[in-house]
Amino acid sequence: MTQQNKRQRQVSMVLDLNKCLGCHTCSIACKKMWNTDQGTDYAYWNNVETMPGKGFPADYPLIGGRTDKGEVKRGTVPNLDTGYGRAWNFNHKEALASTGQPIKVWIKPKEEVKWGPNFDEDVGEGQYPQDNHYFYLPRLCNHCTHPACLDACPRGAIEKREHDGIVLVNQDRCHGYRFCVEACPYKKVYFDHVRQVSAKCIFCAPRIEEGVAPACARQCPGRLRFVGYRDDEEGPIWKLVEKYKVAVPLHAEWGLGPNVFYVPPMSPPKMDEKGRPTDEPRIPLAYLESLFGPRVKEILDVLHAERDKKKRGEKSELMDLLIAYNWNDNFKLEPQHREVFSEHG
Ligand code: SF4
Ligand code: SF4
Ligand code: SF4
Repeated sequence: MTQQNKRQRQVSMVLDLNKCLGCHTCSIACKKMWNTDQGTDYAYWNNVETMPGKGFPADYPLIGGRTDKGEVKRGTVPNLDTGYGRAWNFNHKEALASTGQPIKVWIKPKEEVKWGPNFDEDVGEGQYPQDNHYFYLPRLCNHCTHPACLDACPRGAIEKREHDGIVLVNQDRCHGYRFCVEACPYKKVYFDHVRQVSAKCIFCAPRIEEGVAPACARQCPGRLRFVGYRDDEEGPIWKLVEKYKVAVPLHAEWGLGPNVFYVPPMSPPKMDEKGRPTDEPRIPLAYLESLFGPRVKEILDVLHAERDKKKRGEKSELMDLLIAYNWNDNFKLEPQHREVFSEHG
């Protein structure tokens, strides 16, 4: 590997949505590590959404910000109340004071709660038992090849590192204009209301520099996150994205070249009115295509075929990779070379 190649590499993540438990360990691992200051209490660099659902912040695909033929389009900064949802206040004092009393006060929010992170958790769509369905969608910054956040910043405060493609906010240069928050269609830049600067997922850059996978990936009990470089033909990203072509980005049509990929979820069949399984999957194909693009059917066919091979006792490199017998097979990273930092800061 030459230095030139090293400088132009892209670190990447694949998430297999067939294995996500919706446990939110990833979100908490990230938040505990990077994001506990006052002013970022509402910010989840990693969050887990129940789909179909509004996502987080609420209805983020509808509030815009995307590049169109390379041009920056301004979207909207999500509202703290209706978009992200504020921290709720609970009646802990009253509830505790009622301990041992004949009339107990149960713990509940003090005010009417209208929205918050995971507000529509486990709700989903459809009618039980015919076609009720949902799946979990964990989301983090995509460290895009064409980052709208970077294009939108007039201060040059956002950089995309050449040696690993991680997109970072230089908070010393940030003046808090929030153009990046408007521009990111994934709404993965957050505003620190106390420090008045933007902040976003750093792909755990200090860990990547040491060859250690990000906290959200290492802590995931579902072993569904794969991390490595896109050009490493021995690594999991190349195998899942390029060799088997079973991992695709979320909303590729927004044109930013996301470097986070998803293996779409398979689902059990719908039932007919007599409770017999039909040929139709519970999660409508059109819905999955609206998120992950036109190749979803082809991908699901590959997954079913490889799973059937495994059932017949035949070999399947793809299924072995996705099963993740050894957690550390999910990650293929190496410490970055010192000369990369001395040349590029
Ligand atoms: Fe920027 Fe948003 Fe892309 Fe992340 S997902 S690099 S914040 S445009
Ligand atoms: Fe958080 Fe690191 Fe995961 Fe980004 S890669 S969401 S910073 S834990
Ligand atoms: Fe899903 Fe893993 Fe996050 Fe749990 S930690 S919600 S299994 S991605």
